[in-house]
Amino acid sequence: MKIAMCSPEMVPFAKTGGLGDVVGALPRALRSLGADVFVMIPGYTSIDRSEFRVGRIGKLPVPVGRTVVEAVLKECFAVPDVPVLLLEGGDYFSREGLYGDEHGDYPDNAERFAFLARGFLETLKLLDFAPDIVHCHDWQTGLVPVYLRTLYSHDPFFSPIRSLFTVHNLAYQGLFPPETLEQVGLDSSLFTPDQLEFWGKMSFMKGGLVFSDKISTVSPTYAREIQTLEAGCGLDGVLSARRQDLEGILNGIDPLEWNPTTDRALKQQYDRRATRGKLANKVALQRKTRLKVDESVPLIGLISRLVEQKGIDLIAHAADDLLGKRDVQLVILGTGDPRYHKLLEGLAKKYRKRLSLNIRFDLTLARQIYGGSDFFLMPSRFEPCGLGQMISFRYGTIPIVRRTGGFVDTIVDYNQATGEGNGFVFEAYTPAALLSAIDRALEAYGDKRKWRSLVQRVMALDFSWNASARNYLALYESLTKVAQPQPVA
Ligand code: ADP
Repeated sequence: MKIAMCSPEMVPFAKTGGLGDVVGALPRALRSLGADVFVMIPGYTSIDRSEFRVGRIGKLPVPVGRTVVEAVLKECFAVPDVPVLLLEGGDYFSREGLYGDEHGDYPDNAERFAFLARGFLETLKLLDFAPDIVHCHDWQTGLVPVYLRTLYSHDPFFSPIRSLFTVHNLAYQGLFPPETLEQVGLDSSLFTPDQLEFWGKMSFMKGGLVFSDKISTVSPTYAREIQTLEAGCGLDGVLSARRQDLEGILNGIDPLEWNPTTDRALKQQYDRRATRGKLANKVALQRKTRLKVDESVPLIGLISRLVEQKGIDLIAHAADDLLGKRDVQLVILGTGDPRYHKLLEGLAKKYRKRLSLNIRFDLTLARQIYGGSDFFLMPSRFEPCGLGQMISFRYGTIPIVRRTGGFVDTIVDYNQATGEGNGFVFEAYTPAALLSAIDRALEAYGDKRKWRSLVQRVMALDFSWNASARNYLALYESLTKVAQPQPVA
């Protein structure tokens, strides 16, 4: 089975969230099952060319609307067994951010990612590598299936190729003015509500959803939720019309990458048996984040993009009760919406002794929080899969989550009487529901013997890619049996 992936993010090269982790790990898991996989990502300037041993392959012309951009194709050998191609060209990816800067999204994002999509297809042809499947990720690659069914549909090189489009987060859709169609080389006849139009805008996400041969998303529950009005972000109709072609496959994590027995960011490595090791990390984290050093105070960690999805306002509403009336500490690491930065800064001033706020992207501190916290808080409004809870399990840190999306597929609410379950779950999006889950968590924490057994049990849970990679392979297999779709426009 030959698979060519196209993605805007991939660990260790470029990551803003879970998508980067997934594309970093899934290809390796597929390789170990015998699949032949390569990945193309944008050649962002932030990628360290010497650290990752990047070499030049050659040049290729890539049409973007009416112009042709001279692209440079590079290759990188940093990931064992997975060839990674970097696409450079124009000034599309030679900027600080992946998608934007402090002024917001880059105004030419449509062109940048149209360039990626066409550059990807042109590269397949240039290298004479005709995969069985092209696997695309999120709106940034939504035009790949569109081009396959339109501009490239009459080229016999592409006709045996089938496409899979994976939705990592339906809330980010890549919406642009209608003129964009022409700028990215597509016929204006595609601007209809059953194709690329979304309420007067052109939608890259809709392109992926309508034109791909199959769709997947990152958990079975999210696959069901996005077909509903509440969670469908306006695309529930499109998704339910394609429900036969839509599958939810739970993300995994890389157990080698997230491993407290080898993690060098930790003060002390530890395994399931050595709970003292975890405590040493708690003390180190308290010291580093300027909280009172006290092994016995329950410590809650939160690592997140600070955006509406993640339930930051819920924490703010619960803060007076949580930090003012309960004996807990909270460490927050995240960046995102300035509105939430301000909100949290206000709280950090008010609760200096109990709240440590770290507004930045910091992979080392993230590991120290996973290792040093007792609980990991994810009060999301919605959560396609969520990786934080799985990483927390590996580090013996117990998640407190809202019952939504991928949390439903990974977390069973803890039952104090029977000792069953692996986290604390609340349902209503209210401060009271959040606080009641935290109170149950604190109560369980008080029973040291049971707590230790809970920590040991979650550390043994297997959320590695093994099972999920097999599901992807089965999905690829089923795609090879899909008849060639009709060309459009
Ligand atoms: P999403 O993809 O919606 O951001 P996930 O839970 O799927 O959420 O994945 C988030 C990933 O990004 C996790 O690996 C998490 O540890 C990491 N992460 C998020 N914010 C930060 C940050 N400020 N610093 C370091 N890592 C972060």
